[in-house]
This record gives sequence, structure tokens and C-alpha cells, in this order.
Amino acid sequence: TTIGTHRPTQLVIDQAAIYHNIATEKARLAKGTDLFMVVKANGYGHGITQVATTAVKAGATGFCVAILDEALTLRAAGFNQPILVLGITEPQYAGLMAQKHISATVGSQDWLEAATTSIETVSPDQPLNVHLGLDTGMGRIGFQEPEALAAAVTALTASPAFNFEGIFTHFSKADSADTAYFEKQISRWQAFMAVLPERPRYVHVSNSATSLWHDACNGNMIRFGVAGYGLNPSGTELTAPFELQPAMRLETKIVFVKQLKAGNSVSYGATYTAQQDEWVATLPIGYADGYERRLQGFHVLVDGHYCEIIGRICMDQMMVRLPHEYPTGTTVTLVGNDHGATITLQDVADYCGTIHYELACGFTTRVPRVYL
Ligand code: PLP
Repeated sequence: TTIGTHRPTQLVIDQAAIYHNIATEKARLAKGTDLFMVVKANGYGHGITQVATTAVKAGATGFCVAILDEALTLRAAGFNQPILVLGITEPQYAGLMAQKHISATVGSQDWLEAATTSIETVSPDQPLNVHLGLDTGMGRIGFQEPEALAAAVTALTASPAFNFEGIFTHFSKADSADTAYFEKQISRWQAFMAVLPERPRYVHVSNSATSLWHDACNGNMIRFGVAGYGLNPSGTELTAPFELQPAMRLETKIVFVKQLKAGNSVSYGATYTAQQDEWVATLPIGYADGYERRLQGFHVLVDGHYCEIIGRICMDQMMVRLPHEYPTGTTVTLVGNDHGATITLQDVADYCGTIHYELACGFTTRVPRVYL
């Protein structure tokens, strides 16, 4: 991969904002509750190791990732905290996970059976830490019935290859004002917990939304993701109990300026034609950077002015209409504040019909991340 360090397009990551979001949430939690920062997908695009470093300073005591490779990245960078892989890892890697003290999510008894040989071979002295995932209504991974859970717990605790370290579930509608489905999941959770002979070290149900808006059921650990990055998990539906500070700013600079004569067109398909003479800037960013092609017609900030993106967004470049001439080298803000005006990642997501999560982790590796 090539990182564009000789181009003025960059993501500026405010580590103080991440610190604020995590430390403030940690302070709200019941005493003794752990906060594991969710740093999957390169820390939601913010940079996995930098976020992990800031998270530990702010009070995080562990991490969640989506895939084993992300956990290995953290171990290689020297993080020795607990790490839970939230997705299902193929059982052939169970031994490697055990050896590296990386905790596995398990959603079936079959998996335990399939993983045993790998652990006995690769990690005979260090059992695999297991978190049992319960499907209370997310419909993605995990045990579906209390009876199946009970049988798996029996198998798990009987085998020296495993350590029963955690149990958890995931809510699909914790970010909504309508709590009916959330409550249905809570009652299924309780039915599962009723068959559990003893509680493991970690009992966890909360993503950001659950922790922010349903604090009665945090268990003793939360999996804090998007809100740690300063983004409201509900979009605009619910108000967070404290100020979330967005950590991600996207900026570039004007690299070319011209006056477009009335009647002349811009970009592929000639979809935009100037009605009068107009000043147009070319920006060195495009959909190959994760700036969605669907954002044609949206705007960026130049000197506090909202400037329309005109014509189709190209792979690596795009054009905006300026209120008047600006020199090359002028800073352009695509996400963030500029002279009192603001474009949030939520604004961008609303325009292109998605959620800020998708945009944050969609900025490609070509865009350098610089840290404040
Ligand atoms: N827990 C699980 C199982 C997840 O899949 C995720 C992320 O999707 C999270 C926690 C973190 O969610 P959020 O970023 O909404 O806090």
C-alpha cells in the first residue's frame, strides 16, 4: 500500500477527543466496571495502535477487535491487555490465540471440539480464554437456546484446553427511542443467565449505545466503540448523556484553480455546466480515498464558506465551486470545523445515505492519519 504523504489530503486525529470520550464514559460506569475499547477496522479508521495507546491512558483495560489479525497487531505493538476477538475465528487458529493470550468468541459447542487439537498441539500449557456469545436477537452469531449454552458450559469447564473467561450478548436496537426489541433481548439474556452455574470473569452486554442509554445492564465490562471516537451511535435520534467530541477531521488543499467560463462543463459525463463565469478549485481527493462518489452536490468548507462539489467525483480528484478566487494551497475542510462553520461525519453520512461508522472505516490507507 502507498500512503500519500506528498499530497495535502489527510485525516487529522484528535487524541485528546478520544481521551475525553473514553475517560468521561469510564467515570460514569459503576465502580469496578471494565471498559474495553473496540479498535477493530483500524480503530474505526482512526489508527489501531494510536487509539489503543490513548484508550489505555484514558482508562481502558482491554480491547475488542473483529478478527485475529487485529489482535496480533496489538500484541506485536506490545499491548499486553486482554483482547477479545468478537467474530468467529476458524478453530485451526485456537492454539495461536491461546499462546498469545487472545480471547475467542465461541457460539457453538462444535467449535470447542474442533479447536481442542490445535490448543493441545500449539499451546499445551496455556488454555484458550473463551467468551461465549449469546444470540438474544441480533441473529448474527452465538447460542440460540439456554439448553445449548448449558451443555457447552459443561464441556468448556471440563476441558483443560479452555478457560471460561466471559459471556456476552449484543443488542441490535439499543440506539433507538423505541425500547421494545431491546427489552425482548434483555429477557432472553436473563433466560440464558438462569442456566449458568457460575459467572465467568467478564459478563458484558454493552456496546456504546447500550452503555450510554441503558446503563442498568452494563454487566462488569463494556465494549465501547463508536462513542469513543466521538460519534453518536444513534445518529441524531438520541442525545448522548455527555458531549461526544469527534476525533476525526478530513482536510486537503486546493491544488488547481481556474475560472470556468459560462457554458463550460466539469468532470466525467459533463453533468455540471457553469451558468455564468465561476471560480472552480480542484481538490486532490476522490473515491479511491473513501470519499464517496455519491457525494456529488454536497459541499466542503473553504475559508468558512460552504462550497458545492460540482460534477462527478473522480477516483483521485474532485472539483468545487468557490465564491471567488482563492490561491492554490488554501486549506479545504471536508469533515470538521473551519472559521465557525462545521461539516460533521454525520452530515456527510446523511447526504450519501449511510452511517458515520461506514464512512469512518472507509477512508482508505492512501490517506495519511496525522495525530494531534
Ligand atoms: N460489540 C460488538 C459485538 C460489536 O460487533 C461492536 C461493533 O459493531 C461493538 C461492540 C461496538 O459497537 P459500537 O461501536 O456501536 O460501540
